[in-house]
Amino acid sequence: MPELPEVENVKISLEKQGFIGQEILKVELLRADLRVPFPKDLPRKLKGQTFAAISRRAKYLIFETEKYSLLSHLGMTGSWRPFDKKLKHDHIILHFKSGVKLAFNDPRRFGLLDMIDTKDLARSRWLKHLGPEPFAESFTGESVFQGTRKLKGPIKGWLMDQRRVVGVGNIYASEALFAAKIKPSRAAGKITRQEAELLVVHIRRILTDAIEAGGSTIRDYRNSEGKSGEFQTRFLVYDRAGEKCLRCKDGVIKSKVIAGRNTFWCPKCQR
Ligand SMILES: [Zn+2]
Repeated sequence: MPELPEVENVKISLEKQGFIGQEILKVELLRADLRVPFPKDLPRKLKGQTFAAISRRAKYLIFETEKYSLLSHLGMTGSWRPFDKKLKHDHIILHFKSGVKLAFNDPRRFGLLDMIDTKDLARSRWLKHLGPEPFAESFTGESVFQGTRKLKGPIKGWLMDQRRVVGVGNIYASEALFAAKIKPSRAAGKITRQEAELLVVHIRRILTDAIEAGGSTIRDYRNSEGKSGEFQTRFLVYDRAGEKCLRCKDGVIKSKVIAGRNTFWCPKCQR
């Protein structure tokens, strides 16, 4: 499943490919829905609008025009690509005045496509409950420390809760907790102030590294240039159950389902 670094890479590659500034000539919907129905007036309203920006909020990719924004989520297998010929599972094709086209393809159809008035984006049903971005100034060691006091649930679940902070998905939660030497099952309320500071530093560093590496290629993720990421070769703990810990060279990596997802840690150097 694409996580924040992969979505950020899709955004970066769409920008590089010159989709900002493109005026929409026609929106071709090849089915009526993905996870939710496409708004019926989407083709009519987007016609003639120009992409002023492409942004990302959590794992949503947003094509902004002055009036309307096209909000998309890749779900499990969604992808955007410059269109040249039709492929199986293409569900939407944007035709631009310049002659270029952009297609959304999604074999498993857990993706999402919605249109929202740009001025109402932050209040929309998709974005209104979201916590801060991991790179936001408001996300700090102190905010993590204060936000976790007295909580008995595992810190890993807290990190993956989008109302607390967005974009720290399963893989990156395991990696950041390993880097900060915190056991994923530890009660969130037991994290010290110093550990909270460390956690924020490592979350940012790991996400930055992953974005720069083009994201991680889990299953069949590709950015819009058809390139896969390579960050998965740098996982220090994720998916290493039964292997010797790369840091202490003593512990054997364990795995267990925490917060609904497979979680990895070293029992020797994470407390
Ligand atoms: Zn270890």
